[in-house]
Amino acid sequence: MKQTSKLLTVMATIAIISLALALTACGNNPDTHTHEWEWVETAPATPTAEGLETETCKTCGATNGTRPIAKLPNPNQTAITAFGKTATVIGDASIPAEDFNAAVGKLQEALSAADSEPLLSVGMRNGLTAMMGRTITIVTGNAAPESVNKALTVGVDYLKSSGMNTIATALVTLANNGAFVD
Ligand SMILES: [Zn+2]
Repeated sequence: MKQTSKLLTVMATIAIISLALALTACGNNPDTHTHEWEWVETAPATPTAEGLETETCKTCGATNGTRPIAKLPNPNQTAITAFGKTATVIGDASIPAEDFNAAVGKLQEALSAADSEPLLSVGMRNGLTAMMGRTITIVTGNAAPESVNKALTVGVDYLKSSGMNTIATALVTLANNGAFVD
């Protein structure tokens, strides 16, 4: 009788340990874990487009929604100096940096040439000085220089493909026509 009781105790103990092990194993089952969320970048942001990130479980990779990542700042911004003034130049965010820099270089070259031209009339000089007091915009495409609200706007391809004298003449002509003065 005493032996039977001892055997039952052992069996009961084994049963309890087995149950405990089963419960522990259950707790490690990936199907029953508590998701641990973190935001993972799905697509990077660029200067022209928002990116995307996805809330993802660190353990199992389940997802729980997305949110946008703000666009990167426009890298196409610099300054040029002529006629005693420094003007900010802003290019469309979609223009490749190499093209933007080449276009700005041409514009700077043309303005420096005009600035050092002794035959420039007072009206032309005043007009270009007024132009340099405003932000210059470089847009995509081949648009010739024009005045938009008294500020210079010009196409990146126009600047890249035109000679210095052509650019300078176009700017001086606009200035001479009062395009940049209030
Ligand atoms: Zn999970």
